[in-house]
Amino acid sequence: MNNHIISVSSLLTHGYCEYKYYLQYVIKVKVPITVKMKIGTYVHLKKEEAFLEQAVPTSWTEFLDSKEYVITKEVPLKTKFENTLLIGRVDEICTDKDGIYIIEDKPGARPFDSFKNQIFAYCYIFKRNFSEKTAKSIYAVLRDRDTNKEVWKEQFNLKNEFILIDILNRIKKILNKEIEPVPTDNPNKCRACIMNEQNICPYSLAKNP
Ligand code: SF4
Repeated sequence: MNNHIISVSSLLTHGYCEYKYYLQYVIKVKVPITVKMKIGTYVHLKKEEAFLEQAVPTSWTEFLDSKEYVITKEVPLKTKFENTLLIGRVDEICTDKDGIYIIEDKPGARPFDSFKNQIFAYCYIFKRNFSEKTAKSIYAVLRDRDTNKEVWKEQFNLKNEFILIDILNRIKKILNKEIEPVPTDNPNKCRACIMNEQNICPYSLAKNP
């Protein structure tokens, strides 16, 4: 079996449409950078700059042991499982006396499964890196980027972990070309899909004339 690097953000594409994942990560169709993507990068950068102006350096041990509410932002995470490297950069990690909160900010956030699985993947990496250093429970949190309100929160448990591992194993099979990727059956997704806009996808349910 081949070695792979899977980015946590690519789980969003897989959750949107498996065939889109195949086009983007196996066929390597170039996806243009949209205005929405540029705005997202800009907003993240501004938030990180504002955080760094106030941030106080600390160690992971101090951070994880904190009984007070403390946060850190833009945390790079990675873990190796079997022959695969899972990598990502989570928007924010908070802790207080009760738990660790792995937070992702999205514009107009709604708790779609793909968003949940992305955040569970960060939780999974965090658990593999830090479970020996803290006994606190880990929570996945989706927050609206513009209002700062939590729109979904769930404890990361073994059931979520098994679902995530199934998805990662399926992604590995797609990368190895062992299985056929399944296109979405939702025409609304096709209508909003760059692969449809560029007339690249033979399975589009919203073909351009
Ligand atoms: S056009 Fe539809 S089927 Fe094709 S990649 Fe996009 S979402 Fe998937």
